[in-house]
Amino acid sequence: MLRVALTGGIGSGKTAVSDYLETLGVMVLDADRYAHQVTAKGEDAVTEIANLLGPTVVDADGHLDRAAVRELVFADPKKRAALESIVHPRVRHEMNEAASRATGPYVIFSIPLLIETGQAGNFDRVVVVETARQLRAERVLERSGLDQQAFSSIDNAQASDTDRRNAATDLLNNDGSLDALHAQIDALHDRLTTLSREQAKTADY
Ligand code: ATP
Repeated sequence: MLRVALTGGIGSGKTAVSDYLETLGVMVLDADRYAHQVTAKGEDAVTEIANLLGPTVVDADGHLDRAAVRELVFADPKKRAALESIVHPRVRHEMNEAASRATGPYVIFSIPLLIETGQAGNFDRVVVVETARQLRAERVLERSGLDQQAFSSIDNAQASDTDRRNAATDLLNNDGSLDALHAQIDALHDRLTTLSREQAKTADY
């Protein structure tokens, strides 16, 4: 089974791509969703995070206070790295488990911080969705109520468009309409399906 990573900058359209791929019957595994799952109430990662950052990051009900966690690691690279070493291996494990049960020609791993976390080499293909920064800002501001400054601070902390492009095996451009994006995804789906068949044939020999 072909393992395909999907990434892109904030507001680039990763969800729009995933949603459309799902309508084509492709299994999409979302790293953000697994990060929530492995840090849900009762998970041992929550205890490890509390040991790292202090008991105030867990509320009286045992839920992780995600905003408090973000604030505590924001300006502390060592703590951020320690937090990632708790969360990321668990996310990778869960995603690989889910992928091993996947059906269909290929499986998509949607990983916003693929490049930043050095994971591009773990995949057969890397699909990057690209959208001009100004458009990404407009779309995110319209959707979420983030202001321009908050958008910029997130965007500046992420990989550059050039870094993502250099890691890409397949590019989707989302500067236009959703219909235009869907047409590119249809072509990508055909390519990936063909590649997956070829990979399966090679594996038979
Ligand atoms: P994030 O990085 O915040 O998770 P994302 O990369 O998943 O975002 P989306 O949520 O898919 O991006 O898109 C960002 C916003 O832009 C959404 O409100 C979405 O509906 C809108 N959007 C995406 N693509 C288009 C498009 N081609 N035309 C108009 N709006 C779009």
